Amino acid sequence: MRRPKRGSFVVRIVWAAMLGMLINAAVALCCCLAKPGLTSGYGDPTVADLRAWAGSVPAGFPSTPDGTTPNWYGFGYYTAQMFSNATGNPNRSLYVLYLVRSGWPVLSFEGMLIQDGIHQPEHRGLIESRASRALRIPVKPILSGVIFNSVLYACLALVGRTLVRQLLRRRRTLAGQCRECGHQLLNNEICPECGAMTGRLTKPA
Ligand SMILES: [Zn+2]
Repeated sequence: MRRPKRGSFVVRIVWAAMLGMLINAAVALCCCLAKPGLTSGYGDPTVADLRAWAGSVPAGFPSTPDGTTPNWYGFGYYTAQMFSNATGNPNRSLYVLYLVRSGWPVLSFEGMLIQDGIHQPEHRGLIESRASRALRIPVKPILSGVIFNSVLYACLALVGRTLVRQLLRRRRTLAGQCRECGHQLLNNEICPECGAMTGRLTKPA
């Protein structure tokens, strides 16, 4: 009896993890889509952003940006723009790195757009709609964020599933049905349909 139970437990965990990751990806995508109008504040790019610049720029790029433009941190969507060889105008700079992150409650995907004013823009882990340039979807996972969000969503999904099941069982019990399969019971101690204990005692004849 133990082995199949354990197997189903593992299977359940795997399903929950996959569901958690799927929900996380869907939420991150929604954050990218909902970005306009949901800006909650902005500030300067962080130290981590500047490290991203240093670690990601192609050969020929200066190792530190000359400047940054304010970034946006909205509903699970974050973007920073850093530039170099500029005259203070980010639109005229030769080297530009856009850093985009998405995910909620923790940022869990990131991507970069690298431009040097000469070559074609380089996308790293970033899908960008060419038509409007408005939609930027980062796809490179940030491991800590993916794990945190996925575990959170998996737990929420499990809790939700349990609640729904409890409600369903309660309704079935009140309706005089088997809690497990919904078969209408006639004072059976064991459900004739699925063999589950019904929690009723057979009335003595
Ligand atoms: Zn039953």
